[in-house]
Amino acid sequence: MQITPPVGQQEPMLPDAVRERLNALYDEVPGVSCSACDRPGSCCELTQTEFDDDYATMYPLYAVEYLNVVDYVRTHFDSERQREFLSLSDERPMKCPFLTDTGGCSIHPARPLTCRTYGVLNEVEQVDAVAEAHKADMPPFWISAFLSTERYTVCAQTQLQEPEKLQTHLKAMASFDYERRMIALAEDVGVLDKERQQVFESITKKEVPTRWTLGGFNVLLLTPISWLKDNFSSFWKKSFLGE
Ligand code: SF4
Ligand code: SF4
Repeated sequence: MQITPPVGQQEPMLPDAVRERLNALYDEVPGVSCSACDRPGSCCELTQTEFDDDYATMYPLYAVEYLNVVDYVRTHFDSERQREFLSLSDERPMKCPFLTDTGGCSIHPARPLTCRTYGVLNEVEQVDAVAEAHKADMPPFWISAFLSTERYTVCAQTQLQEPEKLQTHLKAMASFDYERRMIALAEDVGVLDKERQQVFESITKKEVPTRWTLGGFNVLLLTPISWLKDNFSSFWKKSFLGE
């Protein structure tokens, strides 16, 4: 049986109005410059230690972001490259498939939130200061979750480009505001068709995939659907990043 990803000219997976709202959310994240970097793209691949510590590139990727990436791939790459990107089923490749040979991002306009927020802060102490500033007005588990993820997303070599956006952005990060809005956007779209939705729900006992990796989401769109019905259960059992 030949397994095929959704390549070729097809209807966009995201309606324009949803893409506009997604891009408006992205625009709230302050831009950073990486021009002083001595290892461009090193943040887009894992060291062996990071891999052993269960890190993943491009994770978390929200469902609506995944659809945005698929649309970008289908309109910016030839069919061979589309097939390569959209058939990848590895949850945690050592290197992001979109990383270019020169350390750039080949889907830069559609890169997910996690790539945009990486390096907005330069030091762990700045993350700690954000947590301290908001701990009186947010539940403790928000603060601890913020600390446990954002302490690992600082980069000492970035330069903040849009400081006027910083405070609002940091509050959105600490309060998981971006996350809630991403989930609401996906609810407005319908990530899977009805048949795939049923396969997903019957196996995971969840209504929809909220966030996952590129490889995880890719598997849900592979055709024919009989392949998904036969194989998704074992794929899900091995997955530990799907939510
Ligand atoms: S985020 Fe940091 S490591 Fe990654 S390209 Fe920018 S400066 Fe380099
Ligand atoms: S999508 Fe782009 S910015 Fe994000 S990890 Fe991959 S190469 Fe890096």
